[in-house]
Amino acid sequence: DKTQVPVAREEKIMVLVRLRPLNEKEILANEAADWECINDTTVLYRNTLREGSTFPSAYTFDRVYRGECPTRQVYEDGPKEVALSVVKGINSSIFAYGQTSSGKTYTMTGITEFAVADIFDYIFKHEDRAFVVKFSAIEIYNEAIRDLLSPDSTPLRLRDDPEKGAVVEKTTEEVLRDWNHLKDLISVCEVESSAREFLGKENSATLIASVNFIDLAGSERASQALSAGARLKEGCHINRSLLTLGTVIRKLSMGRQGHINYRDSKLTRILQPCLGGNARTAIVCTLSPARSHVEQTRNTLLFACCAK
Ligand code: ADP
Ligand code: MG
Repeated sequence: DKTQVPVAREEKIMVLVRLRPLNEKEILANEAADWECINDTTVLYRNTLREGSTFPSAYTFDRVYRGECPTRQVYEDGPKEVALSVVKGINSSIFAYGQTSSGKTYTMTGITEFAVADIFDYIFKHEDRAFVVKFSAIEIYNEAIRDLLSPDSTPLRLRDDPEKGAVVEKTTEEVLRDWNHLKDLISVCEVESSAREFLGKENSATLIASVNFIDLAGSERASQALSAGARLKEGCHINRSLLTLGTVIRKLSMGRQGHINYRDSKLTRILQPCLGGNARTAIVCTLSPARSHVEQTRNTLLFACCAK
């Protein structure tokens, strides 16, 4: 029944970098902004005279965004195309990666709303096809999965389906008519489309694809876990999904040689069909410009360099 999409190329991961402005608290504390976007592609560390700063001062990417640049612009440049591939039956994932307070939720909330609005816009313009848009939202915390659309906090189970891969059991799936239900949620949005003229006939061609919007845990948790030495085990438990995602992304960006450890965490098990292979991936790495965050900002930039 399902039409396989005949795409055999390996997609490059799209990496965008967004530097937020100093926030009110930082301004009140007289924090210096040590990082600056000097053009559309380069983030510069301005405080190279600081003692012990041995790391490179300029980092270059496909696109970088300064604080004042609206989320709409970030979205239009990349995540839009990645999200809209879902209506053609191609799976995709869009991540926000960065330390706590760097702007992940701010960025991802905007991107999710714009993307779902555009998906509906596409659907309304293509009346020759019938679409069903399903939406679900889950949180993974300490490797426990919780349904954000249900008041019940019992952890959901992950089951291996021979056809679909890892399936989260009993997730609430809302059938959407428009995009108004979506505010402030981590989301997985599933689109099924059938050529309308085939509906109800035996060989109806149905495409099923998902677009995932992922607001990751603060990246300081991954670096803390890696540097915690004796406390590594504890750290790994808390941050297993984030750490595993990091390894998976690095392997994918190196051209997928050999085994990829999707099975090592809940997040990567769930996302496996939507990461690598034919799937499209965009990562928005969010940065704080504040001097007190310089180590984490640098870690995020190193991750971004590895992912591209
Ligand atoms: P995170 O999810 O990474 O912990 P948030 O998205 O909650 O961070 O952002 C922290 C604060 O900074 C919020 O008050 C948010 O509104 C603000 N903020 C983040 N990014 C921007 C931006 N690009 N422009 C303006 N304000 C921002
Ligand atoms: Mg957040």
